[in-house]
Amino acid sequence: MKEYDLLLTNGTVVTGAGMRRADVAVQGETIVAVGADLPREGARQVIDVAGKYVFPGIIDVHVHPVYLDDVEQSARVAAYGGTTTVLHFAYGRTGESLLAKVEEMLGDASRRSLLDFGLHGGMFDAPRQVPEIPAVMALGVRTFKFFLTYLKQGWYTDDYQLIKAMDILAERGGMAMVHCENGGAIDYLEDKYLKGPNASAKFFNASRPPALEEEGVFRAIRLAEVVGCPLYIPHVTTRRVLRHLRDARADGLTVYGETCPQYLNLTQEILDTRGALAKIGPPIRSAQDSAALWAGLRDDTLQVVASDHAPKAKDVAGDFLAQGFGSPQIETLLPLTYDGGVNAGHLSAVRLVQVLCENPARIFGLYPRKGTIAPGADADLVVFDPARPFTIRAENQHSKVGYTLYEGRTVLGWPERSFQRGKPVLRDGEVVAPPGQGRFLPTRPARAAEVS
Ligand SMILES: [Zn+2]
Repeated sequence: MKEYDLLLTNGTVVTGAGMRRADVAVQGETIVAVGADLPREGARQVIDVAGKYVFPGIIDVHVHPVYLDDVEQSARVAAYGGTTTVLHFAYGRTGESLLAKVEEMLGDASRRSLLDFGLHGGMFDAPRQVPEIPAVMALGVRTFKFFLTYLKQGWYTDDYQLIKAMDILAERGGMAMVHCENGGAIDYLEDKYLKGPNASAKFFNASRPPALEEEGVFRAIRLAEVVGCPLYIPHVTTRRVLRHLRDARADGLTVYGETCPQYLNLTQEILDTRGALAKIGPPIRSAQDSAALWAGLRDDTLQVVASDHAPKAKDVAGDFLAQGFGSPQIETLLPLTYDGGVNAGHLSAVRLVQVLCENPARIFGLYPRKGTIAPGADADLVVFDPARPFTIRAENQHSKVGYTLYEGRTVLGWPERSFQRGKPVLRDGEVVAPPGQGRFLPTRPARAAEVS
C-alpha cells in the first residue's frame, strides 16, 4: 500500500499541458502520483481542495531584494501571494566586484530565504564586471542583466561591452537579460521635458517614449544574433516591441519576452493620482499597450509574467526627478495575473500556468523539477480559490514599502495555501515557512526550441 505524506484531493490540477480533476500525492519533497481517486488510506495528511485550483508553485524570475525588502523579506512577501521560487538580481554596483556581490547574496539567501531561489547578475559597471562572468557562472548564476538606459546614473552598458558580454555568454551557455531603452536619447528628452516646473509625473512618459524601448529591443536582438547569445527581454511595456519579438522567434533566434502585472493592469493615468509612486522604468503606458501585451501573452509573443518587485521609499511631495524607479509588485503577481488575465478572458488557466510557472522554469533550466505537477517534480504547489474576492490595500500587503499601486482594487481569486517541496509555506493566510528553508537553484538557460 502506498503511504503518502500529503494528499490533496478533488482539486482541479492545472499544468502547462492542460487541466483535470485529480488528486496530488506527495512523499517527502516530491510529487509521486497525480490521478483520480488516489488511495486515502495511510496518507498522513489529506486536504480536500474541491472547488479549488492546484497550480504548480509560482516562479517569480524578476525580483530586486536590495531595496526595502531584503532577500528574506522579499521571499516572505512573495509567499503571501502564492510564489514558491524567486530569482533575485544580485547587483554589482559601479566600482564593485560582481563576483563578490553574487557570493554575498548567495550566502545571505542560503541562510535566510524562505523560498527556493536562484540569482541573476546585475551589471552596473560592465568594463570591470564583464571579465568576471565566467567566475560568476561557475557558481550556478548564468543569466546577467545589462542596462541600455540609465546613462546619467552610470549604469549603462555600451554596445562594445554588451556584445563582448553576449559573446562570452553564448560560448559558455549563459543568457543576456537586457533592459531595453535608449539611455542617451532618454537623458536628452529628460533634460528637455523634465525641467523646472515641468519636472513632474505629468511629463514623465514624454521623456521615455515607446520608440526608444523599441529601438533598444531591436538593437539587443541584433547584437545577440551576431554572436548567437540567448536573450531575455524583461519588462516589455509596449505593443511596438512585440513585432520584433515575433520576427526574432520566427527567424529561429532564442529571444524571450517578459511583461509585468503593472503594465498589464495599469495605465499611465495612474501618474496623475499617485505621482512618483508610479515612477517605473520603463514607464506604465496606454490602455492600447496593455491590451497588446495581453494578446502577446496569449499568442506566445511573450512567454513570462514576472513582478520586477522594487520597493523604494519615495517622497511624493518632493522633487520628482530625485525619486527612484520601481514599485512593490511581488505579492500580487498571481492574483492580478489571474484576475486581469483569466477572469477578464485574456488568458486560459492553462496559459496562466505556462507564463507564471512552466515557461519561467523552462527558460531558466529548472524544468521539470519546477514549473509542473507530475511524478518526480518538487512538491511545489499552490491551492488557489477562484471564488474568493480580495480587496488589495496597503494595510493588508506585507512589503515594508507601505503602499500599493492597486489600492482599493478587488480581485476575484486568491491563494489559500502553498507548499514547497512538500512543506507548508502559506497556510490560513499566514506564511509559516521558516527562514533558511529555501535552497539555491543553479540556472541553465534553455534554447528557444525547448520553450513554447
Ligand atoms: Zn530593468
